[in-house]
Amino acid sequence: MKKIKITLFFLLFTFVIFAQKQSLLNLKYEENYTPTYDEVIQMYKNLDQNYANATLLEKGTTDTGKPLHLFVINNEAEFNPITLKAQGKSILLINNGIHPGEPEGIDASLWFADDILRNKDGMAQILKKTVIIIIPVYSVGGHLNRSAHNRSGQTTPYETGFRGNAKNLDLNRDFTKCDSENAKSFSKIFTEWDPDIFLDTHTTNGSDHQYSITLIPPSPDLFPLAMESFIRESFIPSMYDKMKQGEYDLIPYVSFIFRDPKLGINMTQEGPRYSSGFATLFHSYGMMTENHIYKNYPDRVKSCYQFIHALAGFTSEKSSEIKKSRLAGIEESMKKENYPIAFELDTTQYQMIEFKGYETDENQVSPVSRLKRFGYDRSKPYTEQIRYFDNWEATDYVKVPEFYILPQAYKDVINRLDLVGIKYSEIQNDTIMKITVEYIDEYTSPPQPYNGHYFHAQISTHLEEQEITYFNGDLIIPVRQEKFKYILEMLEPKASDSFFRWNFFDNILDQLEYFSSYGFEKNALKYLNEHPAFKAEFEKKRKEDVEFAKNHRAQLAYIYNNSEWFEKTWKRYPVGKIY
Ligand SMILES: [Zn+2]
Repeated sequence: MKKIKITLFFLLFTFVIFAQKQSLLNLKYEENYTPTYDEVIQMYKNLDQNYANATLLEKGTTDTGKPLHLFVINNEAEFNPITLKAQGKSILLINNGIHPGEPEGIDASLWFADDILRNKDGMAQILKKTVIIIIPVYSVGGHLNRSAHNRSGQTTPYETGFRGNAKNLDLNRDFTKCDSENAKSFSKIFTEWDPDIFLDTHTTNGSDHQYSITLIPPSPDLFPLAMESFIRESFIPSMYDKMKQGEYDLIPYVSFIFRDPKLGINMTQEGPRYSSGFATLFHSYGMMTENHIYKNYPDRVKSCYQFIHALAGFTSEKSSEIKKSRLAGIEESMKKENYPIAFELDTTQYQMIEFKGYETDENQVSPVSRLKRFGYDRSKPYTEQIRYFDNWEATDYVKVPEFYILPQAYKDVINRLDLVGIKYSEIQNDTIMKITVEYIDEYTSPPQPYNGHYFHAQISTHLEEQEITYFNGDLIIPVRQEKFKYILEMLEPKASDSFFRWNFFDNILDQLEYFSSYGFEKNALKYLNEHPAFKAEFEKKRKEDVEFAKNHRAQLAYIYNNSEWFEKTWKRYPVGKIY
């Protein structure tokens, strides 16, 4: 009898252990099915309820009014980022479903969370040094807009969400302009957690090749040297090595300068509007995986899972080096006298990498139009060494000011500075300050809006010293603070994704007064009489320039543009600089 009891006890004990190790998920990627929004959140809720060392949080809202979720996995029931950072833990943030038609990461993150929580193959070891935080679905509105016809170049999964969010914004262009509630909530998460490593999961089309997964690594040239060398010497080689040990090989994202990738591919550079570029502004190692659209969905999910597993392992193994390199990078940035704001790909420098491609064919016949078109011949795979251009050369710099002065009138800008925790003080009394101002000389804007804006390009400017009146409450922003890169990239008008480019300061581009050909006459005459030297110049021009002499409007314009009547505020960028 006693023996039976003991056996029963052991059976029960084994059952409990065994039961704990069962997956709590119901993923069907093998059947080309990716979960709906409700299914995703329900699965995370199940994990939250079953594991004390994980929690599902609601962090702000999205454009749908539904919350933005964050799933936190630690090795104990401690989820306060301040405490965790004080313990020396590194933070890995994984963002999914920014483009819901590209859902591999949604499936793979769930699968990874479940496996690490049930300590499959000792995976929980990773959590000793690293906390993993996951945004299950970032574009909630896009994911809810589910259809079989949202991705024209994709055959699986059979149904997905849509690229635009509830406000029809491409959220992977919205990180700095922050038009969506999603981006505002994301900024708060990013500021609160300050992740050391950040991954955003995507799917790409374009060229055809043999890889299921490609990587857009952190753009090394955008980082200070301490971090650039960590990316080039440690991060990139480690990730390729780790992936080689698994079923799915990794290749750089296939961005090509030539039609045939066999001739060479180049490293892309991701500016601040993109997720990985946004991370760069905070000295965080941000990257994107791009699964390959032409592979079947199960392979895409499995390769994404393999990458997440490898990345989490790397973050944990190199935890202290990652954190040290970030601190060194911040210190290095804060000392910069000149800051690069424009880059060009250096096509003279490259390294050779192994590439598993397919031969291209200019004469494939389309089964639809029955006409010849360019394509890839999957019956002709090859493995060859190709050129990989991975250096971007800085082509323009700005001198780093010590302070920016931002008038309080620009609340939309101030709100965004607040979201990411920029430190500033306020002017205490109305005051006149002699500062450097920047005039926008030339710029272009597209005829059609881009992501809700008329993004400015080809900007040229000049600097002037002026005395400007500032008011009690205007902002003084010291530049040499931890978020140095964010401040420069957003407030230097010529920087690649500046607030100026995204139309936050367009009101200064309007000339508000100007002059009437009839109404300005009396003041013009008075001005000429009071300024004899200028009058002499004006008369000289009238004598020498025949066309000018015949043109009433041109003559008044000459006086207007060269006198105090000219509007000083027109095209004067309102953020002053103190060097
Ligand atoms: Zn994408």
